[in-house]
Amino acid sequence: MVNIPKGTKDVLPADSYRWQYIEGAARKIAARYALKEVRTPTFEHTELFNRGVGDTTDIVNKEMYTFLDKGGRSVTLKPEGTAGVARTFIENGMAGGVLPAKMYYLTPAFRYERPQAGRLREFHQFGVEFFGASAPEADAELILLVDSFLRELGISSLSLRLNSIGCKHCRPKSNEAPRDYFRPHLSELCETCRSRFEKNPLRMLDCKEEGCRQIAAGAPRILDYLCDDCASHFESLKAMLTENGVRYEIDPNIVRGLDYYSKTVFEFVSTAIGAQGTVCGGGRYDTLIENLGGSPTPAVGFAVGIERLILLMQNTGVPFGEEPTVTVYLAGMDEPSRKKAFAIAQELRRNGISAEIDLMGRSIKAQFKYAGKTGAKYVAVIGSNELENGVMSVKNMSTSTSETVAFPDAVKYFK
Ligand code: ATP
Ligand code: MG
Repeated sequence: MVNIPKGTKDVLPADSYRWQYIEGAARKIAARYALKEVRTPTFEHTELFNRGVGDTTDIVNKEMYTFLDKGGRSVTLKPEGTAGVARTFIENGMAGGVLPAKMYYLTPAFRYERPQAGRLREFHQFGVEFFGASAPEADAELILLVDSFLRELGISSLSLRLNSIGCKHCRPKSNEAPRDYFRPHLSELCETCRSRFEKNPLRMLDCKEEGCRQIAAGAPRILDYLCDDCASHFESLKAMLTENGVRYEIDPNIVRGLDYYSKTVFEFVSTAIGAQGTVCGGGRYDTLIENLGGSPTPAVGFAVGIERLILLMQNTGVPFGEEPTVTVYLAGMDEPSRKKAFAIAQELRRNGISAEIDLMGRSIKAQFKYAGKTGAKYVAVIGSNELENGVMSVKNMSTSTSETVAFPDAVKYFK
């Protein structure tokens, strides 16, 4: 037999309600913040990610699923959601429409990474993007949205880490300070850090290698090099979060993996799911749209990793709502009563009630056993006596009490 590819996972029928629960909560929160859903293709021209994610990132350098299609074009399975959404914003002229353009997505994403707990090759994201708003209110609203989403799900164990990495005005200074700091340590740093020294020294601050981390701990804080505009943006954001009851920690080493971030960056982090603790990452990327060929448009967004969210909920005992079970199982004793059960099941379903009958030719005893296993709320039994009297005997499986219900009353009874 052919097995599932490494780093991918099936969602089995018994577990899919968990996914639906989370996706339902995501859609509900999105609607409350007046967002509409956007869907972009699973693959894009490779060039989009080279420019929109950035060529100093791990994603572009090592993680993309890139291949030539039969027409010889280089295409890539989306490694994240933002670049495609930014493309659609530009391509559909949304900058000339109603701004801010606020949208959300639920999407698979593909990265060629070493699979481990919380790290897959195909994973899923719930993401939100706001285009057109430069005010700190937009950053605050976005963070509050994530916070409400997590609360809605019953998650309270995540901590919000916040930082500002400045803009292109503060970048020359905020790049030079870490360079001066890291220069004497270059030989002790990992290869990736050394390669970032010239191109993107800020990324050296959030390297995950232990040796690099220890050195980075003493590095100068980007926060001390912000220009006035970035500094006041950050102050307003922090004040709004505090006023609205969101607790945060300043983490000067958060830089985020993508090249296009500016000003605000944030992560929601867990200690309950192992080494891959970042459940949500986001921030502002005011230069992305311009870099992709659109007119300059500020933007801010985030993405939550759904597999990590599920892992967190499992590990911390947060329930996934109720596993749905069928309302009524109709058991027929003989051929004529099975026919009747079949017809009543159809009538119940037409009236919005979930119903199940035997499709396996099982004995009445085995039908009861099946209904018990699948958690049916009621079992309605029809035998030759019942058929003659036009009734069924309905057992409430949680109280074990039984009642006789006339066929014409079935819909009313189960509704
Ligand atoms: P990490 O620090 O884990 O490498 P990242 O910075 O690459 O994450 P983003 O590109 O910001 O991650 O993606 C947003 C979210 O998507 C992450 O916070 C995480 O929850 C999830 N995610 C990213 N990569 C993976 C993966 N390979 N498997 C599962 N979830 C992932
Ligand atoms: Mg990564």
